[in-house]
Amino acid sequence: MALAEHIVMRELDVPDIANFDVYRKHGGYETYRTVLKEKAPSDIVQVVRDAGLRGRGGAGFPTGVKWSFLPKDVYPRYLVCNCDESEPGTFKDHQIIDLNPHQLIEGMAISAYAIESHTAYIFARGEFATAVRTLEYAIAQAYAAGILGKNILGTGYHLDMYVHRGAGAYICGEETALLEALEGRIGQPRLKPPFPAVSGLYGKPTIINNVETLANVPLIVERGADWYRSFGTTRSPGTKVFSLSGHVNRPGNYELPFGVPMRELIYSPEYGCGMRDDRPVKIIVPGGASSPWLLAKHLDVTLDYESMTAAGSMLGAGSMIVLNDTVSAPHAAYKMDEFFKHESCGKCTPCREGTHWLVRVLHRMTEEGHARPEDIPTLHSIYNQMAGNCFCLLGESAVTPIKSALSLFPQEFEDLVPQRNGRPMIALDAKR
Ligand code: SF4
Repeated sequence: MALAEHIVMRELDVPDIANFDVYRKHGGYETYRTVLKEKAPSDIVQVVRDAGLRGRGGAGFPTGVKWSFLPKDVYPRYLVCNCDESEPGTFKDHQIIDLNPHQLIEGMAISAYAIESHTAYIFARGEFATAVRTLEYAIAQAYAAGILGKNILGTGYHLDMYVHRGAGAYICGEETALLEALEGRIGQPRLKPPFPAVSGLYGKPTIINNVETLANVPLIVERGADWYRSFGTTRSPGTKVFSLSGHVNRPGNYELPFGVPMRELIYSPEYGCGMRDDRPVKIIVPGGASSPWLLAKHLDVTLDYESMTAAGSMLGAGSMIVLNDTVSAPHAAYKMDEFFKHESCGKCTPCREGTHWLVRVLHRMTEEGHARPEDIPTLHSIYNQMAGNCFCLLGESAVTPIKSALSLFPQEFEDLVPQRNGRPMIALDAKR
């Protein structure tokens, strides 16, 4: 399947598109101008709803439906762009804000108008220092041109936009932890409900959308829901930016319509260009480290929310990590869970203690070479105690790598345990 048109990445090859004048010359902010002068906020909500745009942060929740959850007549309302991109394997939002920040700003401006908000925040991952400077410069240019600020384009509408840099904590990608951090507190998740659409930033109705989600909005509003639905599948319409990494020849961000087989993303000369050294695929982590692993037999599963779920995994933010046959499954699980342990915010016991013990046992097995026969049931026991008991999805995500590795490659764990006469041998240092 060939890609008919890029939506989010459509102008990334235009030299200096991050510059306001260049973006304007390519039709930038024309949709925003039309929206402010000719459309009611409800028109925008309706077209985004009809287009079936789904949130690109991982959950895939329909954006227009989320917008319609705002309680009537409660103001002020806030729009927050989640740019805390930290999931291992995900690097698309960084590229969007670095190379074409005005597309995000225009998408946010239209979205803020749609939800009747006058204040918008971009919560950016702390490490995105250079990209954030690009974004801040682009916002300053938009203010200078009267695209942001008071009485925008003489319409009476006003909108202020701010960038807030986080401190590099993965948990702040969780929307309520993000709000806590934005309000100046430690980034730890809030109990839900109430959901942010009802009580979010400063206790007011707040819509939180991902960078890629918002960057889709200008073209959807300009060309309409039917045009957008001409890409992708019925339930996953449009295109998606997939971050491809691992043992592929050409890692990178590729925008394709939903519904393309994983095989095409990995092997097409336009995208991944196949596996490095032609080695076989062993593990596919299709939606970032939080997603259940798939195998080479799943290569023809298509890249859309429904097919990924049916195959036993999830599309997540579309961050596909492909590993070849040189990789040890226990070691891959160890490295991923080490990340989750490091990023656990410590608020709840199952995650704080569970990730600690998972990593401690996996480290002993894979790095120290002191695996014990009881380690395998211990790992099962730890993740079973975590699953369903963590306060937020980070803890649940930490279960995924070890559960996938143990269920798909049990022999590789067995092989780490010293054997004598074909039976597991208690390691000499078992009392350590
Ligand atoms: Fe924090 Fe982990 Fe609990 Fe989430 S699951 S609240 S990250 S300790």
